[in-house]
Amino acid sequence: MNLIFLGPPGVGKGTQAKLLCNKYGILHLSTGDILRLEISKKTTIGNFAKEFIDKGELVPDDTLLKMMKDRLCLDDAQNGYLLDGFPRTIEQAKGLNLILKKIGHKIDSVISLYANEDELVNRLIKRGLTSGRSDESIEIIKNRQKIYLDQTSPLLSYYHNVGLLIKINGVGEIKYINDEIIKIVNQYA
Ligand code: UDP
Ligand code: MG
Repeated sequence: MNLIFLGPPGVGKGTQAKLLCNKYGILHLSTGDILRLEISKKTTIGNFAKEFIDKGELVPDDTLLKMMKDRLCLDDAQNGYLLDGFPRTIEQAKGLNLILKKIGHKIDSVISLYANEDELVNRLIKRGLTSGRSDESIEIIKNRQKIYLDQTSPLLSYYHNVGLLIKINGVGEIKYINDEIIKIVNQYA
């Protein structure tokens, strides 16, 4: 089973992704986590990505596509995965399609988590107090939300048009939301 989690910063993609991946034994691929690891190791890609991430902007499409192409070819990605936070632009979605075609994978479902903006800002500010993330100050959070709206939210209609999009309310008990997602993806497991 190959899934994509789509949704604004703070909606709970990471939390729900971990629960789901544990349940089904599939690989959790958060491009944000991968990039932060590269930054902590001060690799070429990490040093390059840091400039964008610290401003709340997107790391360029070609960087992400190259990184994910390599990642999806590895052995541990051949038995199911959940893409958390990628693709983030239409260009990335198109590039991902080409990659998947080449390696013979297909996406079973795109789960879109949603929540109202106040809830999201509150969650992110709260998370910023303990996460130690360089991009969780109020101004950067606002910028990430704007970037999401401008560049990532067009993916909702993109995936709706190919019949893959499922929308799930991201406000409520973690366990309840998890059950809602399980009901949907069980058919692909
Ligand atoms: N980022 C990016 N492309 C990705 C994933 C992350 O450019 O595919 C950058 C971007 O600057 C973003 C930041 O990393 O604001 C944090 O991403 P993450 O997915 O961790 O944030 P979340 O949306 O889960 O809060
Ligand atoms: Mg995340």
